[in-house]
Amino acid sequence: MIDRIFVTEAAESYSYVEEICDRAGLRPEIIQDDAAYRNDVERFLPDPVGQGKRHLLLDVFKGEFFRKCPGTKGKVCCNYYVIDQTTNCPFDCSYCFLQSYLNLRAIRFAVNIEDLFRELEIVFRKHRFIRLGTGELADSLALEPLTGFGRKLMEFAIEFPGVVLELKTKSASVDKLPDVRNKPGRGVIGWTMEPARVVSREERGTATLEERLAASSRAAGKGYGIAFHLDPVVFFPGFEDAYLDLVDQLFSRHEKLDWMSLAGFRYEPALKGFVEDRFPESELLDGEFLRCSDGKFRYLFPERIRFFRRLVKKVKKMSPKTPVYFCMEDARTWDLVMGRNALKDPVLTPIFSREGDNEKQGM
Ligand code: SF4
Repeated sequence: MIDRIFVTEAAESYSYVEEICDRAGLRPEIIQDDAAYRNDVERFLPDPVGQGKRHLLLDVFKGEFFRKCPGTKGKVCCNYYVIDQTTNCPFDCSYCFLQSYLNLRAIRFAVNIEDLFRELEIVFRKHRFIRLGTGELADSLALEPLTGFGRKLMEFAIEFPGVVLELKTKSASVDKLPDVRNKPGRGVIGWTMEPARVVSREERGTATLEERLAASSRAAGKGYGIAFHLDPVVFFPGFEDAYLDLVDQLFSRHEKLDWMSLAGFRYEPALKGFVEDRFPESELLDGEFLRCSDGKFRYLFPERIRFFRRLVKKVKKMSPKTPVYFCMEDARTWDLVMGRNALKDPVLTPIFSREGDNEKQGM
C-alpha cells in the first residue's frame, strides 16, 4: 500500500516517525519540507495522483487541526466538526473529490499529535456535546495498520463525556481499536456502504462489502456505535434494487444505527477529467446531470427525489429509531423526501443538536 516514506526535517526527531517506519518496514527518506517533495519527487512521477497515494509524507503541522465542517453553500448543515491530521488516502475511489482538490499528491500525515490532543482538550472542555471525525480529507482507518492513529485518538477522546468521535472508513481495520464499553464518550465507526458492483468498479483498494459488514459487527462487539453512509448513491442499471437490497443487508446486522447519511453522487467540474483519465471502466459519469446552485453537478432533481423517497421509506420501516439525514442536500430535498418539519424530528436530535440547543435543554 505504501512503498516510500518521506520525513521532513521538522518531523525527524519525533519518536512517532520511527514507530511508523518500523511497522511499514521502510527506511525514511529525509527531505527539507513538503516543497522539496513537490519539486524533487512529485514533479517527475508519470502518474502523480496514483503514485502519490503510495507515498507517505510525515510532517509537523503548525496550524489548527480542528474546524467546523464547511458543508456546502445553500445546503442543510449537520453540525459536524472535523480534524485535519491526515490528508489524502491510499485507497483510490473514482468519485473522490481529493483528486481535484489537493495540491500535494503524497499522503501527508502530521506526527505532532500531542499538539492535536492539546488543542482538542481545550475544545472538549468547552463543549458539552460535540460530534466530530477525521474522515473529511482522508479515510480514518486506511493507514491504521501502519500508524495506529485511530486507536491513539479514540483512547484520548473517549475519556471526555459529550464527545462523539466518528472514525469513517472503507477498510476493515477495527481490531486494534480500544474497547469503548463503559466509557464517558461515544466512539462510532462509520462505513461508506455501496452495492458490491460500485465497490468493485469505483473503489480500488478498499475492503469488500462483506468485509466491511463483518468489521461492523466486530466493532459493535467492542461497544462502538455504528454509522453507515450511503454516499455517494450512484445511478447505474438496476441501482434502485441494489441499494434497497443493501439496506436489507445493513439492518440484518444492526437493529439500530447511530446514524445513516444519504447523498447522491455529485461532482465539481474539475473532477470529470480525473474520472475519464484514471477510471476508464467507471460508470460514474453515465447518468444525466444538471449543474446546481453550488456549482456541483447532480443527478436530475425529480429522479433523486423519487429514489430517495423509496430509500428513506425502506430505512424508516426497517429501523424507525435510526437517525437518517442528507449530506449536502438542500431544504427542498429534505421537505420533499422526509416531509416538512423533518429537521425537528426528535430522532435527529443527537445529530443536529448544537451547543446552544444543549444549553436550552439543560444538558
Ligand atoms: S476512501 Fe475516501 S478519501 Fe479515500 S479515495 Fe475513497 S473517497 Fe477518497
